[in-house]
Amino acid sequence: MKVVQFFRAIESEGRNIGLPVSFVNLSGCNSNCKTCLPYTNPRDSHISIDMEVTEVAEKLLAAGLPHVYIACGEPMLQEEETIRLLDLLEQDERVKSVTVHTNGFVDIAPLVKYTKIMLSLNWCHGITMFANLDRLRPEIDMLKFIIWNKEDYHRMIVILPLVPEGIYIMLNPSPTFGAKEWLLDQVVKDRLEVRVIYPQHFSLGTF
Ligand code: SF4
Repeated sequence: MKVVQFFRAIESEGRNIGLPVSFVNLSGCNSNCKTCLPYTNPRDSHISIDMEVTEVAEKLLAAGLPHVYIACGEPMLQEEETIRLLDLLEQDERVKSVTVHTNGFVDIAPLVKYTKIMLSLNWCHGITMFANLDRLRPEIDMLKFIIWNKEDYHRMIVILPLVPEGIYIMLNPSPTFGAKEWLLDQVVKDRLEVRVIYPQHFSLGTF
């Protein structure tokens, strides 16, 4: 399995917000988000460590936290390994939840059989597979829209009616999106049931 890094952090968004979480950043991606992590560069599959899936699971479990986050690069590009990792984490009673962060450019159906999973479908510039919206499970899964500019907001408005009831929806303004007051006014005016979250990363160190 191609891995970039392991770290603990306080979760800054989503259903586990505020909880300490063990993260593994995978390597390689089929997207080109402007907001890609500049320091670890997970979309470059050349910058990675090759590890056995069992080693990845052991390392995450040894970190001692009940919540695990499998973060981008895109986990579904390593589908077989990701599924094996989920199987191992699912079987361990110390793990209460596993969040898989996927850009949704490929079918996420193989992920949604897991009970502990919280799927975070990252809508990158409106081209994520529409069919994946129907796969999201109410009260479990999450959908994130990264708002880079006003066009992204209007695109989100078109997509929102297609999202099943009960999905936790987040709106993350990009750090460079300056029109904060405009955005908040729009959310109120459009009566949106979405959480506006400015993610702030509190790292607890690598492991
Ligand atoms: S999905 Fe993640 S790894 Fe891929 S380009 Fe976007 S931020 Fe980077």
